[in-house]
Amino acid sequence: DRMTLAALKDVPAETLDGINISLQANIELPDEVDLALANGATGIGLFRSEFLFIGRTELPGEEEQYQAYAAVVKAMQHRPVTIRTLDVGADKALDGEATVATNPALGLRAIRYCLAHPDLFATQLRAILRASAHGTVRILIPMVAHMHEVIAAKAAVESAKRELDKRGEPYADHVQIGCMVEIPATAIAIDPFADALDFLSIGTNDLIQYTLAIDRADNEVSALYDPLHPAVLKLIANTINAGIRAGIPVAVCGEMAGDPKLTRLLLGLGLTHFSMHPQQLLDVKREIRRGHSNALRQQVATALNRHSTIDPNVLQ
Ligand code: PEP
Ligand code: MG
Repeated sequence: DRMTLAALKDVPAETLDGINISLQANIELPDEVDLALANGATGIGLFRSEFLFIGRTELPGEEEQYQAYAAVVKAMQHRPVTIRTLDVGADKALDGEATVATNPALGLRAIRYCLAHPDLFATQLRAILRASAHGTVRILIPMVAHMHEVIAAKAAVESAKRELDKRGEPYADHVQIGCMVEIPATAIAIDPFADALDFLSIGTNDLIQYTLAIDRADNEVSALYDPLHPAVLKLIANTINAGIRAGIPVAVCGEMAGDPKLTRLLLGLGLTHFSMHPQQLLDVKREIRRGHSNALRQQVATALNRHSTIDPNVLQ
């Protein structure tokens, strides 16, 4: 396959043995959608909505959020747009919020924060639902560890719909809801989540941090931040397999998905949905088109059973 990167934009992301792989983009702000499309993204796999909220003193209201989400949804023209609800706390504190937690990575983050601030969560959900009237929107809940968080988040989506009904505002009939799998507990006891949700997305950045007890932002221990640790790979494999059993798609949207050196390994783990920074899409597509999914799966399964480390460079 000697195509130039640019020529890869419009060819399918298909393995040598004919498995079609979904390649979607991670974005932080609406104007990045052009870059995603220019690199052949077939959807937005992760819209990190917190970037609309951080670095400002007044939070965006429903209308401003709706405009931002709708702009992305319209630009993607019915390709799926996965909007992650606010993932604040820890390394992404809102302005003016006193950080009192001694260990913010283990504190009131993401869905925990949203469930503790129901008005803020409801405002965001109404804005997302209104944007769903313009295309295909999926709601992604970050940092889920407990099934009761899934149940509470779904109830919040339902009550946001009732509120829009009262106002006569349109939204799509079937807005899929999924969760991030980025806490080891979730990846280990994954089946109820796979049964209750429409899709899963593995956040390897946090999953590695929490599995190996390595602060992802602490340079002093960064050498120990190892995406290839067998425990990390087992958690990814466990999540992918639960998705297959439940018949729902499982993506990886952490940095691992965008590293072309890890593409064969992820194919070998059975991954069929990747989401990454737009600029990584074509490099990863090239690797996918060189890979033989079935052969990779056999090699990775053998190594995983031995709990041994895998050198991704030796996978054929
Ligand atoms: C992750 O944790 O892998 C992820 C995609 O989310 P973020 O990097 O925004 O925490
Ligand atoms: Mg994360």
